[in-house]
Amino acid sequence: MDTIELLAPAGDLKRLKIALLYGADAVYIGGQQFSLRSRASNFSLEDIREGAAFAREHGKKVHVTVNMLPHEDDLGGLDDYVRALADAGVHALIVASPSIARRVKELAPSLEVHISTQHSTTNASAIRFWKEQGMDRVVLARECTLEEVRASCANAVLPVEVFIHGGMCISYSGRCVLSNHMTNRDANRGGCAQSCRWKYALYEGEREISDPDMRFSMSSKDLQAVRFIPALIEVGVSSLKIEGRMKSAYYIATVVHAYRMLIDEYAQTRMLNEERIAFYEEEIAKAENRPTGPGFYLGMPKAKDQLYGVNGAGVTQEYIADVLSYDERSQTALLQVRNHFHPHIDAEVFGPHTASTRFRIEEVCDLEGHKLDVLNQPMQLVRVKCAFPLEPHAMIRKVYDRSSRHVY
Ligand code: SF4
Repeated sequence: MDTIELLAPAGDLKRLKIALLYGADAVYIGGQQFSLRSRASNFSLEDIREGAAFAREHGKKVHVTVNMLPHEDDLGGLDDYVRALADAGVHALIVASPSIARRVKELAPSLEVHISTQHSTTNASAIRFWKEQGMDRVVLARECTLEEVRASCANAVLPVEVFIHGGMCISYSGRCVLSNHMTNRDANRGGCAQSCRWKYALYEGEREISDPDMRFSMSSKDLQAVRFIPALIEVGVSSLKIEGRMKSAYYIATVVHAYRMLIDEYAQTRMLNEERIAFYEEEIAKAENRPTGPGFYLGMPKAKDQLYGVNGAGVTQEYIADVLSYDERSQTALLQVRNHFHPHIDAEVFGPHTASTRFRIEEVCDLEGHKLDVLNQPMQLVRVKCAFPLEPHAMIRKVYDRSSRHVY
């Protein structure tokens, strides 16, 4: 089996490092210019340089989104920015606009150009077109079925990247003016306000015909493609992409960790039965707080794949602390508190090299050795006993009874 790339999102340097440490082969990030998701794009050129160096040290790659659809006034500074990205050591730019794609090839031939999903590529003929333009990879539209992915890959002349997890756009891969209309923020120039997820009432003339007690949204469930990973690997997809540059480090660690284990397991066993599918879906549910579905992989989404009212699924476990270090002699870990918890609870740790493992947190002490009754100061440093070593960068969750899904 050829090695398949697991591609993760990162909204800042910390999340970039977490994504790579937890098993992503590459991350995609946004800079401060020419990118969608402008609110998530807080990488300065200096951060990009540091992130690219970190990735290289670990044998991994950084892709940068330069995927806005620029109007004439937006193009100033493009040449300098492209040269600066090449100089920063990134591997590829993800581009939606043909004008930007062509300019990148002229200015920085060392950079790969990946055609963004914003371009809605849905077939092998379109992929051939991009090959003829000198491009290096195509991110298929999220609206492709599994059969269409298969057909595209069978005849593909370029590597194909597909989405496997995260938010879907109720419009055609971002080709939407809902946000422009409602908020004056251009979805295709980095400003999407996710207006489709707001609650709406439906009127016919002056008369409201929706239930006033049940406003509805126009959003879809998020994609979760655990059961499709073997098929996507077998049809020859080159890169599996997780959506979510605005997601937390904990979410990214959990989702990347689960898909990494899945891909590695499938590479060894070439099978994935229902029991293992349930295992990976449960792993992801520990951080996923939105309802998920198959996206378009099984065909046109049905009513059950949309979110008409409910927006939250609730996570099954709650992130409470990061592991900073572990002292073997005293069997004590130094933790940084992230969310409120009490001592004497069942917890679970997972990390870059640690599968999810349950243990009990008994006493928790501050750095002076005082026992604490409640942990309610985020970032506080504390010590806990643990009989087995906890690796740096591991994260700790509070374990909930499965019947009490924790809804935010
Ligand atoms: S408002 Fe919703 S449908 Fe429109 S671009 Fe944003 S996420 Fe997509």
